[in-house]
Amino acid sequence: MAERTLIIIKPDGIQRQVAGQIISRLERRGFKLVGAKFLHITVELANELYSVHHGKPFLNGLVKFISSSPSLVMVWEADGIIEIFRKMMGATFGCNAETGTIRGDFSCGKRFNLVHGSDSPESAAREIRFFFKPDELVNYDLTNAHWICGVND
Ligand code: UDP
Ligand code: MG
Repeated sequence: MAERTLIIIKPDGIQRQVAGQIISRLERRGFKLVGAKFLHITVELANELYSVHHGKPFLNGLVKFISSSPSLVMVWEADGIIEIFRKMMGATFGCNAETGTIRGDFSCGKRFNLVHGSDSPESAAREIRFFFKPDELVNYDLTNAHWICGVND
């Protein structure tokens, strides 16, 4: 199985109605969607999701932002997707993110940066488990996979 990552379109992406534009980029890159949930992340869930940031000065603001309105939580699959998607997201602060990245094209601040992407295989496993039961992730073949990835011989 190819690598999987957790991608969240955060409340600003939903409220600004750019979720489709973000998903288009994932499809265009050839990623495969294997799970999705549209939900309002509660304060409790946000605190748990961002437990690595406990004690940091921005935690409260981050939790308030993430729990302010619904998010689209998804699992996508592709070889090397964790690193590829981190590059597609761009730097954490929109004001530092390169043009051409999601954050660099859609944001210019320091918190409202539209997307979350797991930062390592360990984080991806934890975050996917956090939102999805195994049977909520769908196994199927993308019929155009061969045309995206080619063959490595
Ligand atoms: N964040 C913030 N202020 C900061 C740093 C981060 O509000 O000084 C928010 C921002 O929305 C970011 C999230 O907290 O996406 C998680 O931070 P992290 O350092 O994990 O950045 P990411 O992995 O999302 O690039
Ligand atoms: Mg992070």
